[in-house]
Amino acid sequence: MDCDKCGDEAVTHAAYSGLHMCGDCFTRSVEKRVRRRVREDALLPEDATPQDPDTWVVGLSGGKDSVVLTRVLYDVFEADPRVELVALTIHEGIEGYRDASVDACVELAEELGIRHELVSYEEEFGVRMDDVAAEDPEGMAPCAYCGVFRRDLLETYAEELGADKLLTGHNLDDEAQTALMNFLEGDVEQMAKHFDASLGPFDQRSEQDRFVPRAKPLRDVPEKEVALYAHLEDLPAHITECPHASEAYRGEIQDLLLQLEENHPGTRHSIMAGYEELARVASDRFREDESELGECGRCGAPTNRDVCRKCYLVDAVGGSAD
Ligand code: SF4
Ligand SMILES: [Zn+2]
Ligand SMILES: [Zn+2]
Repeated sequence: MDCDKCGDEAVTHAAYSGLHMCGDCFTRSVEKRVRRRVREDALLPEDATPQDPDTWVVGLSGGKDSVVLTRVLYDVFEADPRVELVALTIHEGIEGYRDASVDACVELAEELGIRHELVSYEEEFGVRMDDVAAEDPEGMAPCAYCGVFRRDLLETYAEELGADKLLTGHNLDDEAQTALMNFLEGDVEQMAKHFDASLGPFDQRSEQDRFVPRAKPLRDVPEKEVALYAHLEDLPAHITECPHASEAYRGEIQDLLLQLEENHPGTRHSIMAGYEELARVASDRFREDESELGECGRCGAPTNRDVCRKCYLVDAVGGSAD
């Protein structure tokens, strides 16, 4: 098959668009989608200047998504002095898994010459995920602890690094899965939070003064295309799965979505288009409740309890956040 854009030999076919593309046209199309998403989400404020650039802290895990995001942002904004990129890597303490992916992060950051910060659960909370998973004092999936700890460190360090935005590598499949899970669980409040935390243009989200705003510039790019980009560009991505991965429900949703996509190309895009609109409406509806959050008695983070979820869990696993 020939590339629909330039006539060279095609390496990929996207059923949802009907396009066959060669390697060069494909990588350009990924970069174009990221650029468009940055524009549509109004990520780069008009008043950013080379003297006072917008600082974008990228959560770099070493997996293909965050590696591709970092590289594409670098390529797209390298020549733009109004943007400053910083990579932030979280080490969860998972033997044989995170060490290799941290190497991938270091390699990429060095290659691109961008600032790179590494923080670990062990140094910050005195715990390692391997021990948390083995002991599991709360009787829940390892990812339930890990997600809370990671979110906390990303937010804390993004703030410390002077971030104007915190960017993560979620792709179209990740986002469509989350959307469908929120639908199926009937969780409208969660939709509102999802929107305010990371979807939609900045001027439509509700005020989140206490958090660095989040963005997901890869969320128009399907997972398979992210993997293809990493492969074609020969990026140092780490692909092994975490040994504690345990989100069984998400796995079911993933299978369902892939099946739907195969029978009805474009399903993921249409889910996200409708969901984003609904989530925006939900965000308006729940806007007042958000402002009633108090502060955690230990760390001062916004919460509706006496002690925030992170401090509670750090305590439960025998760690210390001080
Ligand atoms: S799969 Fe779960 S336990 Fe492993 S790094 Fe991700 S969130 Fe943490
Ligand atoms: Zn081409
Ligand atoms: Zn706290």
